[in-house]
Amino acid sequence: MKKHNFSSGPAILPLPVFEQAAEAVRDFNGMGLSILEISHRSPEFTAVMEEANVLIRDLLNVPDDYAILFLQGGASSQFFMTAMNLLDQDAKAGYIDTGSWSTKAIKEAQAFGTVETLASSKPDNFTYIPKGFAIPEDLAYVHITTNNTIYGTQFKTLPETSVPMVGDMSSDIFSQPVDVSRFDLIYAGAQKNMGPAGATLVIVRKEALGKVKRHIPTMLDYRTHVKKDSAFNTPPVFPIYVSMLTLRWIKANGGIPAMQQKNAAKAELIYREIDRNPMFKGTVTDPADRSTMNATFVLAEGKEHLNDEFMQLCKAANCSGVKGHRSVGGFRASMYNAMEIESVQALVQVMQSFERKFG
Ligand code: PMP
Repeated sequence: MKKHNFSSGPAILPLPVFEQAAEAVRDFNGMGLSILEISHRSPEFTAVMEEANVLIRDLLNVPDDYAILFLQGGASSQFFMTAMNLLDQDAKAGYIDTGSWSTKAIKEAQAFGTVETLASSKPDNFTYIPKGFAIPEDLAYVHITTNNTIYGTQFKTLPETSVPMVGDMSSDIFSQPVDVSRFDLIYAGAQKNMGPAGATLVIVRKEALGKVKRHIPTMLDYRTHVKKDSAFNTPPVFPIYVSMLTLRWIKANGGIPAMQQKNAAKAELIYREIDRNPMFKGTVTDPADRSTMNATFVLAEGKEHLNDEFMQLCKAANCSGVKGHRSVGGFRASMYNAMEIESVQALVQVMQSFERKFG
């Protein structure tokens, strides 16, 4: 029986996508060949790349002067690649430190120029999104992690600034509309809302490239991939194919507005139960910052010894992946696009039966 998959990533994908992907491994488009054994330069795969591109441009209203790239190396490689390509040695970039992924992005960027941490919620274990901080006008860019997968916080409005932004959207891309024109660059590992691990999406304003003085190795220069339509070397063929199938599914299911509505309903349901149920408490201090993708919660004071009991009830109800990240503890319910509300209802029932049993 298929489990309710609350994993933070790699994460749930739509069932029809699994079925179509499995079929393509056996026989891709009736070619008599598997998707795993065809050339990345074959017309059949070029068509997949093109369709994925068109779908992303359409779903996110990506302006014409932006390129869409599929790279490798995960979002973690974007931590340094963004700075290497956009931050000159004598220039300054601003970072908002909202979680360990932001902290890692800051560390990597420091090798390339001056990094100013404009605001940080680190002293409070990243339990909120900083607000009201000043953004100097002379920055090359401002980097934000739009959704903090580990801590369950999310920027609900973008910082007020005319400085272009760089956004790590690994865990909330395609979950809600985004004004791409506010960003010089957006990056996201595929393995949450887009597809399997192995592809990294980059959306970059082409004019922002080629401005830094340093030498950039060919593979790490975005311009290489812009020029060669993400096929300078062998791209991650299968993750791109599965991503394209997921993007098709998003479009067929009402596009981003429909995803946003569905995600809001799921988030409302879980947070209502976290707030109602005396056995639990949410970890995010300002409810306005609560992520629609990752709901984090812990056992209420005096109930901490019941951790294993709750995990066992989750297991018995086929709810998988509810354990919190090791740096926060407690529980985390990740509810990406492909999760139906019925799965969140199943978890809410577990929380209620836990209360009846141990409350
Ligand atoms: N940024 C965010 C917000 C993440 O959640 C993650 C982990 N999935 C990463 C970056 C790192 O991604 P990757 O494992 O693809 O390098």
